[in-house]
Amino acid sequence: MPTTVMFKLAIRLCCVSLLAFSSVALAEWFETSEAIMGTSVQAEIWHTDALRAEALLAQVMTVMWGVDTAFSPFKPDSELSVLNRRAGVGWVAVSAELLDLLARSRQMSEMAHGAFDITYASVGRYYDYRDGVKPSDEKIRSALEAINYRYVELDMAGSRGRFQHPDVYVDLGGIAKGYAVDVAIDLLKKAGVDQASVSAGGDSRILGDRRGQPWTVGVKHPRKPDAMVAILPLEETAVSTSGDYERFFERDGVRYHHILDPTTGDSARRSMSVTILGPQATFTDALSTSVFVLGPEKGLELVNQLPGIDAIIIDEDGNMRFSEDLQELATP
Ligand code: ADP
Ligand code: MG
Repeated sequence: MPTTVMFKLAIRLCCVSLLAFSSVALAEWFETSEAIMGTSVQAEIWHTDALRAEALLAQVMTVMWGVDTAFSPFKPDSELSVLNRRAGVGWVAVSAELLDLLARSRQMSEMAHGAFDITYASVGRYYDYRDGVKPSDEKIRSALEAINYRYVELDMAGSRGRFQHPDVYVDLGGIAKGYAVDVAIDLLKKAGVDQASVSAGGDSRILGDRRGQPWTVGVKHPRKPDAMVAILPLEETAVSTSGDYERFFERDGVRYHHILDPTTGDSARRSMSVTILGPQATFTDALSTSVFVLGPEKGLELVNQLPGIDAIIIDEDGNMRFSEDLQELATP
């Protein structure tokens, strides 16, 4: 099992020294949290005006609720549910926002050689991690035919989409939380906020620093719920973690969890957790899921090719592995 790792330097640390002295009188931290999208959503901002700050935090939560309402596969009236019901039969009109998210999912699928695939849910929909339900091998085999991101056909000019296989079922759970975090951060930036943190479950994005100091984000121990294996000093970055401990059940000594290998319809088991750092949460969210499925070797190979992206992987044996840029920063 991994021991805690501290990072010697603040990652992406830049000219922080004077900021602590330029604080505006009466500014303070404002924060809020709510349970949305099946997880805990939190936002924290530094602001001089309490009323304005509360209004901005309310807008952040409105963004989160909006993403949940539009993209939840569990809400029968969500835009995604309508797509799932009808796109196997013919073209369905799709909003600009959903079209954008479907197109970005496809780019991630191509970059990750199919490890990221929103049609994983053609099989994934038959698992129930809370009740310990696993589909039969026969069911997995037949539903597996509908997993293929290429089946999601997008007509960008006509704002519509369709599925090229009748049994395709799409779930955006591997990218939507990161997307929501990015939309919220953009909103705060436009409103002039320059120090903030927004997180939705394992996906966070940080704006600026924390009054001259880096923010700290912990990487959870995959087998000890209250322990951390790394403390990351961060600023101006997004960070996402995918873990096999978030939603799972065990059967005959095998762990069935919510990240599926699209080629088998079974849980991916080469890692226990994958943390990705990069500029945008939409990307780090989808990439953490992708690298989890790819496994440490192929996953790190991919990450090391991407400028400005870093990874911390805890592999199936509990060893910590780092992308090239992080190796020299980590001290046990
Ligand atoms: P969470 O923050 O929900 O734990 P992750 O970023 O770890 O999310 O992604 C896991 C979620 O991604 C699953 O709950 C599921 O909705 C979706 N998912 C699972 N396997 C895949 C896959 N191979 N490709 C794309 N999405 C996936
Ligand atoms: Mg993810």
